[in-house]
Amino acid sequence: MEQLLIGLDVGNTNITGALASEDGALIAKLHRATDRAGGSEAGLQRITEITGALMTQAAESGAHVGRIGVGFGGPVDFERGVVLLSHQTPGWENKPLRAQLENQFRTPVVVDNDANAGTLGEWRFGAGRGVNDLLYVNIGTGIGGGVIANGRLVRGAQNLAGEIGHIIVRRDGPVCTCGKPGCLEACASGSGIGRRGSEALGRKVNGKEVFALAASGDAAAQRVLDGVIEDLAHGLGVAIGLLNPALIIIGGGLSEAPESQFLEPLRRAVPRYCLAEAAVKLRVEPAQLRYDAGVMGAVALAMT
Ligand SMILES: [Zn+2]
Repeated sequence: MEQLLIGLDVGNTNITGALASEDGALIAKLHRATDRAGGSEAGLQRITEITGALMTQAAESGAHVGRIGVGFGGPVDFERGVVLLSHQTPGWENKPLRAQLENQFRTPVVVDNDANAGTLGEWRFGAGRGVNDLLYVNIGTGIGGGVIANGRLVRGAQNLAGEIGHIIVRRDGPVCTCGKPGCLEACASGSGIGRRGSEALGRKVNGKEVFALAASGDAAAQRVLDGVIEDLAHGLGVAIGLLNPALIIIGGGLSEAPESQFLEPLRRAVPRYCLAEAAVKLRVEPAQLRYDAGVMGAVALAMT
């Protein structure tokens, strides 16, 4: 009997599930919105509905689902398959998601955070194919990331490896969501850029507007972006010093910014923050999976 995989991307407001072949080719995709007000119970209900529907589809085609991978938008105890919390949705504290799904669907389940899932997805199916040492950095509202070293995902002692967003790049910088001042996430995420832009321009702007203003020649907006790129290069330089990656993949909303405004100046800035030798062969490239990044990451988790 043909064996298939299910990947589930569980975000704060959206849950996407995919049925895929054993080598990761997409067969079907299902999408449901979940309201935060419903808490974890509403989220679990959606997860169950999507999984059930994909299991049925697999059965109808004469196949069976061998494994389910779940990428969750919040910290996860990987060893125990337990969601530790969601920063946005109440009720997820210490939820044994793996055990619940395994009991319900009688199928092995892997649960990890969405940053690790995204890293595995880009490595298996995206910009990182064939590269054994890479760093994945997702820059959106926040900054997350993951590490592949020697051809393996690095989890660390508490599944917190790759949390590049909380490397401190400016000790006198703005306070981060984690409570510490000057984290890379506070300085260079989409929301960080919006805040820096708003301060510099004296009116409320978001990150996208800062890019647009800089493109139209606004010198203050350009100075903000210059500062953001230095901070990002600083954070990446710290990671390069530890990991010596061959490739840094930039995903998330910021990877959609024009290359001339973002990736090109970032490539020029990075060598200022690491050993010259470590920068020679290093490539900095945009992620490739874009809209399917979350769910393909979850499929990649199911393959591990
Ligand atoms: Zn932080």
